[in-house]
Amino acid sequence: MGKIFGTFGVRGVYPDFLNEDFALKMARAFGTFLKGLKENPRVVVGRDTRRTGESIKESFISGLISSGVDVLDVGILPTPLVQYSARILRVDGGAVITASHNPPEYNGIKLLEGNGMGLSRKKEAAVEEIFESGKFYASSWKSVGKKSRKDMKIDYFMSVMERVDANAIASRKPFVVVDEAGGAGALILPELLETLGCKVLSLNSHTSGFFSARNPEPNESNLKDTEKIVKALSPDIAVAQDGDADRAVFMTSDGKFVQGDKTFALIEKFVLSERKGPVVTTVATSNIIDEVAKEFEVEVYRTKVGDLVVTGKLLELGGVIGGEENGGVIFPDLVLGRDGIFSTVKIVEAISKSGKTFEELLSELPKFYQIKDKIRVKGDRKSAVLKFAKLLKSEGFTVDLTDGAKVIFDDGWVLVRASGTEPIIRIFSESRIEGKEKEYHDFAISKFIEANKDLEVEI
Ligand code: MG
Repeated sequence: MGKIFGTFGVRGVYPDFLNEDFALKMARAFGTFLKGLKENPRVVVGRDTRRTGESIKESFISGLISSGVDVLDVGILPTPLVQYSARILRVDGGAVITASHNPPEYNGIKLLEGNGMGLSRKKEAAVEEIFESGKFYASSWKSVGKKSRKDMKIDYFMSVMERVDANAIASRKPFVVVDEAGGAGALILPELLETLGCKVLSLNSHTSGFFSARNPEPNESNLKDTEKIVKALSPDIAVAQDGDADRAVFMTSDGKFVQGDKTFALIEKFVLSERKGPVVTTVATSNIIDEVAKEFEVEVYRTKVGDLVVTGKLLELGGVIGGEENGGVIFPDLVLGRDGIFSTVKIVEAISKSGKTFEELLSELPKFYQIKDKIRVKGDRKSAVLKFAKLLKSEGFTVDLTDGAKVIFDDGWVLVRASGTEPIIRIFSESRIEGKEKEYHDFAISKFIEANKDLEVEI
């Protein structure tokens, strides 16, 4: 059996891998699966702004309807808003037609649970099996599904208003520069911030799906032009999102890129000051998260990398906030997945309520020194990481194997982890003592090479 689903659903280049035929078949498989659980399933479907989005979405919807599934079409929306819609509309499942931060020639399908969370691995495997078998449920003419359109923007805006101090934001009137990369966030975030009373200047907010001005992955190197504009305008804060707006990264008023760990810690601090409860993050995130949690005497739980596992753990523990080092933050009370829209609103609220600047809030966080690096490795990367772990264990080091191999030191750690999608090994190191992060980084690379003499490594 082929492996269709990756870490983030199905993704590929149009039309070679992902096309209308594929979407139709996937929808029939999902519809057949849902029909096996319930007589009249209802499914929410939304999409991002890609050129191929509309026809992929319509094919997907046809597949569901022909399986006897009713469809609520929410149109172009950020992934977190489709997830929100699923929860609010009490459906049985959902789908987002998106390829997140990938270039414009890509598209993808992300399936959702009825509560809006990403579909569990177990259910995904079941849908995949039906997909491979080609045995689809075909509805009679009398019981084909119905499609209706739903506009969920105002519902989401109302839910956000209920959760923030709108007066504080309205009286501070922060100046926010927003760069949406032409993604789905462009239809939501600038207007939401304005509704809250911010002064907003939006860049790349045309939703033609070409992503011609910048790559939709919001990393430091893709945001060089944005940085120049931010520097010239000197706003209170700048935010950049990926194509489906589940992630948000931030810049200070002088255009300095802020690591996702830090903005997550800032949001964590602010959320915990409102309501205490467990925090969930992955093994790859900075210990700033633990230091902040200590101030509020709450526990931090660490999982494997991936928003699905973080969200699952949050639900299990009744956690109040979760997040990842790449700028994805989860507010389980609102959406069961990363929400880059609400993350932005929360940071703007924190600035407004504190009366401080974004820079000041960041400087108040516990200080850690980090290196985030990657090396190219040919061959079996997972077993290479295990060999590295084995060597270090034999030398008496403490190694956490939750995801990859994380070597723990008194003042920091180094994580060596094989990427799931690229031929690389990620090496993240951190220490509270300046300079030690470099020492741990170099140590991990030399030990990795020592443990894998037969492998070709490119540093
Ligand atoms: Mg995304």
